[in-house]
Amino acid sequence: MAVFCHRCGAGLPVSARFCSSCGTAVAAPQPIPGRPLMRPRAGRQIAGVCLGLARANGWDVAVVRIVAAFGLLFTSGLAGVAYVAAWVGIPEEPAGPPQAYPRSV
Ligand SMILES: [Zn+2]
Repeated sequence: MAVFCHRCGAGLPVSARFCSSCGTAVAAPQPIPGRPLMRPRAGRQIAGVCLGLARANGWDVAVVRIVAAFGLLFTSGLAGVAYVAAWVGIPEEPAGPPQAYPRSV
């Protein structure tokens, strides 16, 4: 992916911080803001895969669940395999602070 100076239009290497032609500072490509892909502990229905995908991408969780349900019906189980793979592959949200656990005496 090439980077171009917004002032003079010169092509620059991706790692460039300043334009080599006119010296203008080149804005570094910002990572897309969003939550990391994780399976939340609260609000999940089965394993939190749909909720985690929805939160990570800014989607409506209801839409994701409907799409997943239709996928399960019309892909003859392939979506189920994908769901289990996501269940295993997507890390679970870290637990809360230790005092959130019930105290054992
Ligand atoms: Zn320039």
